[in-house]
Amino acid sequence: MQKPLIQIQNITYQYDGQSAPALDDVSLEVYHSEWLAIVGHNGSGKSTLAKLLNGIQFPQQGSIHVNGILLTHDTVWDIRKQVGMVFQNPDNQFVGATVQDDVAFALENNGIPREEMVPRVESALEKVQMGSFLNSEPYNLSGGQKQRVAIAGVIALRPQVIILDEATSMLDPRGREEVLNTVRELKADHQMTVISITHDLEEAAKADRIIVMNKGKLYREGTPEEIFLLDEELISLGLDMPFPVKMSKLLKEKGLNLEKPYLTEEELVAELWTSHFNR
Ligand code: ADP
Ligand code: MG
Repeated sequence: MQKPLIQIQNITYQYDGQSAPALDDVSLEVYHSEWLAIVGHNGSGKSTLAKLLNGIQFPQQGSIHVNGILLTHDTVWDIRKQVGMVFQNPDNQFVGATVQDDVAFALENNGIPREEMVPRVESALEKVQMGSFLNSEPYNLSGGQKQRVAIAGVIALRPQVIILDEATSMLDPRGREEVLNTVRELKADHQMTVISITHDLEEAAKADRIIVMNKGKLYREGTPEEIFLLDEELISLGLDMPFPVKMSKLLKEKGLNLEKPYLTEEELVAELWTSHFNR
């Protein structure tokens, strides 16, 4: 059995003034270089979980270990070097006047010496295909470009884990694909672990593993194949099925002999093309 990179044990977190906990006795493990998607209705506790993993808030009960180190006020700065986070709104994440200042800021905050900083900023921006925007003002960039700069700020610190909290939800389909492809390449090149909190179940379908949150609890954990078999159950939690899964179901109801619900458009099209059309 693989040793987990992140181990979350029985964490509970309740905000001041709230009558119910945002996270209620949640335990889970995250493994080296997996892509873990976290899905769930609004208010199910996903962002709270992300904030706890990054040490922005601390659980009232339970523990989080990263690489075997307990996350506390004393270890939070070291752990943040291992766990980087990209948020939903690209505009709220900029602190620098130019793209390169912005990426440099995170490094400066972490005490990286200047001579090391410059090449690290440039290489991080190259990796997200923003190397020619070093002196641009962030406000002139498209949403997808802004999120790629935010990702550069995170990867400049060379974390093992990147958490995307609805990081593509404000983007148009093209911007979304750009950002996800960037993260997929980084993951492949650096064996990074990705935790992607998302409303986009088509994106979740491409993950290695999915966690479904509901009302502060971990509702289900499984491979995309296992999770999408839940079908009506997911819909009753307020989640929408990916288009190819809905389409597979409809085609099956119409009498087409499909072996399984197909999770991606590519798989469904390949199946239809090879087995159901006589040329
Ligand atoms: P999600 O990201 O899944 O939409 P959140 O983790 O943001 O869920 O929220 C979980 C619960 O915690 C919700 O009931 C929400 O209203 C509550 N909550 C989130 N942030 C705060 C806050 N800053 N103060 C009080 N309650 C909060
Ligand atoms: Mg959220």
